[in-house]
Amino acid sequence: MKSITLRRPDDWHLHLRDGAMLEGVIGDTSRHFGRAIIMPNLVPPVVTTADAIAYRERIVKAIPPGDRFEPLMTLYLTEHTSPDDVEEGKNSGLIHAVKLYPAGATTNSHGGVRDMDKAMPVLERMAKIGLPLCVHGEVTTPEVDIFDREAVFIETVLEPLRKRLPELKITMEHVTTQDGVDYIKASKANLAGSITTHHLIINRNAILVGGIKPHYYCLPVAKREEHRLALRAAATSGDKRFFLGTDSAPHVDPLKECACGCAGVYTSVNTMSCLAHVFEQDNALDRLEAFTSLNGPAWYGLAPNEETITLVKRDEPVSFPAKIETGDGTVTVFDPMFPLHWDVA
Ligand SMILES: [Zn+2]
Repeated sequence: MKSITLRRPDDWHLHLRDGAMLEGVIGDTSRHFGRAIIMPNLVPPVVTTADAIAYRERIVKAIPPGDRFEPLMTLYLTEHTSPDDVEEGKNSGLIHAVKLYPAGATTNSHGGVRDMDKAMPVLERMAKIGLPLCVHGEVTTPEVDIFDREAVFIETVLEPLRKRLPELKITMEHVTTQDGVDYIKASKANLAGSITTHHLIINRNAILVGGIKPHYYCLPVAKREEHRLALRAAATSGDKRFFLGTDSAPHVDPLKECACGCAGVYTSVNTMSCLAHVFEQDNALDRLEAFTSLNGPAWYGLAPNEETITLVKRDEPVSFPAKIETGDGTVTVFDPMFPLHWDVA
């Protein structure tokens, strides 16, 4: 039997939601992961340090007894975010990043930033105090094709911002294109990227071939095969600038399976099994730990987790639930469309 032991992984991009959904999903992350960067796009969003303190308390209360899990809080950047509040949040050890959503880019992002000039005072303060900016790297202008949003964001938002404020540390979250990978690799400093589990496994055919498959729809949307291969090469390379951010994003089935379905793929349940499969396929199992457990903490200025987890490869496929039940309703679990043999022991 094959097995591999890793430092306990962290998830550098996670949606836990709130209320009954939070209670229904958090155990799927805290079972395997030590920490996670928690996305602030609630309704209403987490915009101040006080909001983040209150949200953190609700998360901690929902952690299943016995699990040791630390939520790393973020703030939702608005045109009115106070630089002093952000600095106090960082100094208190609570706030680990601020998140930029271009207005309208994804679920609950209508409050995002329209005019970057208005966000400059807070971004300048973040550069000064060394607090990373997490970006959802897509433009939302209607004339840009949805498959080109990331490349256009790099050219029209990210590159100008990095020129204007080179000291600002930026995490390009859920990179989905060769363009994004190349841009990160070409950077000299202060830029890194997270990659999701599902973008390593699916391309856009998963959503569109043989009928529309809403459970593979997420934002940024999966792209062509060549982009998926570029993401795999980056993730499995060991390059310190790439790390796991699952973007696991639960929605109840009725909100996915309808005429205007929500974006989001729920991967918390089987992420480690999927990743072990991907890394083994690419002869890179020895670099899985860097991607899931080492590169992320180094980027965010934290030590790797002390604890370890062991993955074992079973002869028979491991069975995962197709759906989970939450107090809000049923959530469909990501189906990688191949049998999974790796299991967290
Ligand atoms: Zn997300």
